[in-house]
Amino acid sequence: MFEHLEKYAGDPIFRLGEAFHQDPRSQKVNLTVGLYYDNEGRIPLLKTVQEAEARRNANPQPRPYLPIEGLASYRSAVQKLLFGANHEVLRSGRVATIQSVGGTGALKVGGDFLHAAYPDSEMWISDPAWDNHFAIFQGAGIKTHTYAYYDPETKALLFDQMLGQLSALPKHSIVLLHPCCHNPTGVDLSPEQWRQLIPVLAAGELIPFLDIAYQGFGAGLQEDAYAVRAMADAGLSFLVANSFSKNFSLYAERCGGLSVVCSSPDETERVLGQLKAIVRRIYSNPPMHGGQVTASVLNDPELYALWEDEVAQMRTRIASVRQKAHEQLSAKLPAYDSRYFVTQRGMFSYTGLSTAQLQALREKHGVYIIDSGRISVPGLNTHNMDYFTDAMASVLR
Ligand code: PMP
Repeated sequence: MFEHLEKYAGDPIFRLGEAFHQDPRSQKVNLTVGLYYDNEGRIPLLKTVQEAEARRNANPQPRPYLPIEGLASYRSAVQKLLFGANHEVLRSGRVATIQSVGGTGALKVGGDFLHAAYPDSEMWISDPAWDNHFAIFQGAGIKTHTYAYYDPETKALLFDQMLGQLSALPKHSIVLLHPCCHNPTGVDLSPEQWRQLIPVLAAGELIPFLDIAYQGFGAGLQEDAYAVRAMADAGLSFLVANSFSKNFSLYAERCGGLSVVCSSPDETERVLGQLKAIVRRIYSNPPMHGGQVTASVLNDPELYALWEDEVAQMRTRIASVRQKAHEQLSAKLPAYDSRYFVTQRGMFSYTGLSTAQLQALREKHGVYIIDSGRISVPGLNTHNMDYFTDAMASVLR
């Protein structure tokens, strides 16, 4: 019955991670998947998460279905984190938020929603992009294109080209944007550049779709939400998909949110209703555990302050790893410009290494980097930094 189907090649990133695990070399270094590791190479279980779980276990509760849109305490906490507690869009009841199955689930529900609301709209995604963006939105029936974003020569943003291209798009085109810590390049718009972009989005009547999967890993939890808040300040209607996979280190619990900023409370109610109709027919309602844990951290002032510290520790460690990599590479290979390690932000850096260099790193040194040359920076630590920079120097020499 199904013999005609193509074989699924698997996700290239997860496949390479598998090859890493099979590699018997003890000095191997895994820079593939976007997971935050601590200096000992462990995925942290945050203290605030442990505390919230302990409280939950001390008071066991039955597990009925959650509402289709998710836990109310979670949804309001998501809104405050994205927009700031007192933002006018929240006070005036203009944001429809659902708890989603991770950031990916938010993108999928948002994709289905937009395709139903604007069946002829097409989507523009940064070049390069997180590959799953294409798969998710094409899967929702939306035609995808790319806009200029990153210059491999300068390892920086092609802002003028991006602006030019977006200003020429047809009305109601959907534009996918990363408020912080762009995956895969680590190159973000500055606040000044967002201030230039927003009027272009407004004038073209474009539909911005913000994907924020690394809030707190760039400049800070509040700072990283700059684009979200600036767009709300400017009175735009837009979507935001957020994820707690990284900043709560809760990958497997699938905690995310989809928020749609609307122009009136009445429109917000209609939008929320449509989001619920979509959820109902694809997975009915979200899971409870991660939603309760993150909501109890976000809604408890003491736990929230501790969580801010835990996020700051992750952010600071990434920044110090970036600094160290840059210093060591500058010393070992003065002719090589490694400044991108410190100018790019968040989990990822785009090395621009060639296929042959990536292969040599993998085969000769056991340093695993995905084919695009994107490295997941937290895979580096004080124990493997020397080894990594030696390996880089040997293939770049
Ligand atoms: N968007 C981007 C840009 C991401 O990098 C990721 C995670 N790799 C996601 C969304 C999805 O997040 P989640 O794991 O919560 O589904």
